[in-house]
Amino acid sequence: MNVDLHCHSNVSDGVLPPAKVAKVAREAGVDAWALTDHDEVGGIPAARAAAAEQGMRFVTGVEISITWAGETVHIVGLQIDENNAALVQGLEQTRSGRDSRGREIAAQLAKAGIPDAYEGALKYVSNPNLMSRTHFARYIVEIGACRNTSEVFKKYLCEGKPGYVEHRWATLEQSVQWIRGAGGIAVIAHPGRYKFSDTAEGVLFDEFKQMGGAAIEVVTGSHTPDQYPEYARLANAYGFLASRGTDFHAPGEARVDFKLLPPLPGNVTPVWHDWF
Ligand code: AMP
Ligand code: MN
Ligand code: MN
Ligand code: MN
Repeated sequence: MNVDLHCHSNVSDGVLPPAKVAKVAREAGVDAWALTDHDEVGGIPAARAAAAEQGMRFVTGVEISITWAGETVHIVGLQIDENNAALVQGLEQTRSGRDSRGREIAAQLAKAGIPDAYEGALKYVSNPNLMSRTHFARYIVEIGACRNTSEVFKKYLCEGKPGYVEHRWATLEQSVQWIRGAGGIAVIAHPGRYKFSDTAEGVLFDEFKQMGGAAIEVVTGSHTPDQYPEYARLANAYGFLASRGTDFHAPGEARVDFKLLPPLPGNVTPVWHDWF
């Protein structure tokens, strides 16, 4: 069974509407699918309807931005009730600083020789409440300052580079509480992407576990292939279930295509082990 529990639509920083993402996933052989937009559940009704139409099992999802030990970390919530009031309100609060952050990003980019980036990024934004660095990255590619978005994130928008704005997201505890309060399962997204020492990563895993976090992503488009066995081992060592997803944002922008993402290693317990 091909299970993909991490994808984005244009309700956050993906380019396709939720129903189109469902279609692309299904055509690539996905059997069970979650839409996990950043800090947003607005795409879920359309995604659920499209998944049903495609004959694909659907899992509700969200990817919450948090700040932990001064770094941005992403916590995925799966099997959430997307209408849960505390979750909806928490996400709204998490989104609320994004527009002013976007203006600050643009001001920094202007100083670095990229003028009018706020207006430029806005052309790529479908959900006015969710301006993301990805929208800036697409604009910077459009004007020819970089060849692709991954080059943008090397030269701009990341820590220490022009267009990086310190931002305080939700806390780890809030994210886990919102997800669990909405009946969901909390998952640490792409743990291999954070620049933590092994010690700090261990502290993150311990705290997350104590708060009721249940899983980590093992096979994700945001990991390198050598990180799959590494995080499989860590999932088992900490007693976490394992999740899998492409982290799809746009056709052609993908780090790993739906068809090329390998299955979970055999030695882990999939987060969906008792769902289907
Ligand atoms: P934001 O939530 O606005 O800080 O934007 C975070 C998003 O930027 C992530 O979800 C990715 O889609 C994208 N992103 C971050 N780092 C990179 C990178 N190195 N290469 C490509 N996309 C990235
Ligand atoms: Mn993203
Ligand atoms: Mn992420
Ligand atoms: Mn993601």
